[in-house]
Amino acid sequence: MNFLPFARPTIDEAMIAAVADTLRSRWIVTGPRVAAFEKALSERFGGRPVRALTSATAAMQVALELLGIGPGDEVIIPAQSFFVTGNVVERAGATAVFVDVSLVSRNIDLAQAAAAVTPKTRLLFPTHYNAPLDPDVLDAFARRHKVRILEDAALAIGSRTPRGPVGATGDIVSFSFHPNKNMTTIEGGALALNDEREAAIVDELRFHGIKRLPDGTRDVERAGVKYNFSDVSARLGLEQLARLEDWCRARARLAQRYFECLAGDDLLTPERLPPRDNPGHSWNMFAVLLPLQALRSTRRAFMDAMHKEGIGTGVSYEAIHLTTLFRNKGFREGMFPVSERIARETVTLPLFPEMRAADVERVCESMKRVMRRKAA
Ligand SMILES: *Cc1c(COP(=O)(O)O)cnc(C)c1O
Repeated sequence: MNFLPFARPTIDEAMIAAVADTLRSRWIVTGPRVAAFEKALSERFGGRPVRALTSATAAMQVALELLGIGPGDEVIIPAQSFFVTGNVVERAGATAVFVDVSLVSRNIDLAQAAAAVTPKTRLLFPTHYNAPLDPDVLDAFARRHKVRILEDAALAIGSRTPRGPVGATGDIVSFSFHPNKNMTTIEGGALALNDEREAAIVDELRFHGIKRLPDGTRDVERAGVKYNFSDVSARLGLEQLARLEDWCRARARLAQRYFECLAGDDLLTPERLPPRDNPGHSWNMFAVLLPLQALRSTRRAFMDAMHKEGIGTGVSYEAIHLTTLFRNKGFREGMFPVSERIARETVTLPLFPEMRAADVERVCESMKRVMRRKAA
């Protein structure tokens, strides 16, 4: 049987032909296709300016610079997210203030975030994990605490709230187009911004800090980076964006099949599964919490056994405060128990649009077999 990876991008012949056309045109670096891709994203997000960059990591780094976040500033981040949030805050020279997440949504606990606000807090930097974060609650948080918000929506292109697609609301929103996300440009990211002033600063920062002067010469005011996007990636992005809604529907159907196949399992009880009623979720991942005590086993052993069955699994994510980087600053086990529990027990099962219901059934059967063997 074929190996089933836990994520795989959909790339069809039309996409390959579109990319080949772009290569044949010889205009491969930033150009008209980047502008078209940014325009298409902007339309999706209600007309606000959008800028594409080489990754979400680059986008977040530039967003922190745009906001002027630096030494002496505090940035509130969830302890359970991808390492990049902690890394970019560190690289900006600011202080990461961790907050725990809620077990069900895996999103930042906003009551704890409110309690963590100090006069030095400049930014709330939450990740959309399961269901998207509520835009009304985020807006109220920003107003009440007078902070900016940078939403890490790397997993949430395609997610929706009652106020529209994630990216159409909020302050600054960052996306990733890495191949494991809901759509891909190979590597890539984007920022949804508030106005043309912010977009002009991102234009400068992402390309060497270059400003064009009226006399045709160039100047640099801010020390920029080189995170500009390529037309080849943008052409793939345009094709992918056109399919996003279909793919999210396919993901949602596969997620429902997981729920059906796992219903009634005495080891994977409902609180170990994602919330079943999860409006607006784009189902980038189907992550479960393993009952390690009942299994008297480790996640490593579970993942190895699944690999032997031809099934790939992933871990999203470790607890950021327990990396050596933050342990060296005094963070320890027990500080954010929910994030730590998720970090210990979580495993991501295969989910991507080209999977069939039969693939989901195969994963569930393998998983039940592996768990029964361990629990016996
Ligand atoms: C993938 C991911 C990122 C990073 O995206 P890149 O485009 O690889 O830089 C950031 N945050 C979360 C939550 C992610 O899953």
